[in-house]
Amino acid sequence: MTFIEENLERIREEISLCEKKSSRESGSVKLMAVSKFHSLEEIKEAIRVNQFLFGENRVQEAFEKFSQLNQNANIDLHIIGSLQSNKVKNAVKIASCIESVDRISLIDEIEKQCEKINKRIKFLFEYHTGEDSKSGFTSYDEVLNILSLISMGKYKHIIPCGFMTMAPFTEDESLIRKSFSTLRDLSDKCKKEFPNFNLSELSMGMSGDYKIAIEEGSTIVRIGTAIFGERKYI
Ligand SMILES: *Cc1c(COP(=O)(O)O)cnc(C)c1O
Repeated sequence: MTFIEENLERIREEISLCEKKSSRESGSVKLMAVSKFHSLEEIKEAIRVNQFLFGENRVQEAFEKFSQLNQNANIDLHIIGSLQSNKVKNAVKIASCIESVDRISLIDEIEKQCEKINKRIKFLFEYHTGEDSKSGFTSYDEVLNILSLISMGKYKHIIPCGFMTMAPFTEDESLIRKSFSTLRDLSDKCKKEFPNFNLSELSMGMSGDYKIAIEEGSTIVRIGTAIFGERKYI
């Protein structure tokens, strides 16, 4: 077994155990492989062992790697890093979902670029729940307000699917848990106010904290290091 294959098998098993322990339905947590800073060859190795959901932070890097994999229709790429408006045009070409939507001006730009290519794209609201991340919405009202604009038909090419957050980098498990439960509270509130939207996704949990995230209701865990090893930042 290769390094990546071994890691994927182990993590899949741990996710499945964690689902059981927290009385979650089997298969309710999706595993995303975060391939930023890793090569096309490493991505292909993950695909070989049936990993099809990927996350990338930087649009240019994602574009270079994933446009070479276009023939594989199973591949699902999410953009998870903070997104500058001038990168949206390429982002919407390669991704099925933008998870890092953190401001209304970005929503306007995504709508505009998707309209041009006649594509509908999924997105998640990134919410700020921990000190370490600088991005994300900071008020529930702002999120509710945007959902209400969408429900009134202002945006026709974007599909709200849920919420994403990054927990603080800390040893203090209660702070991490608090961050995840804050996102779940937001999700519950929005689902109640907008029952017509399918806001079922909760993207939370990374290599170091995904088990806590699953206990708190995560539906997508975003895992890089535990699958591909340490990133070499160059
Ligand atoms: C890099 C990154 C991850 C993956 O982090 P690991 O600790 O390597 O698992 C998850 N989410 C976001 C938003 C990231 O930028």
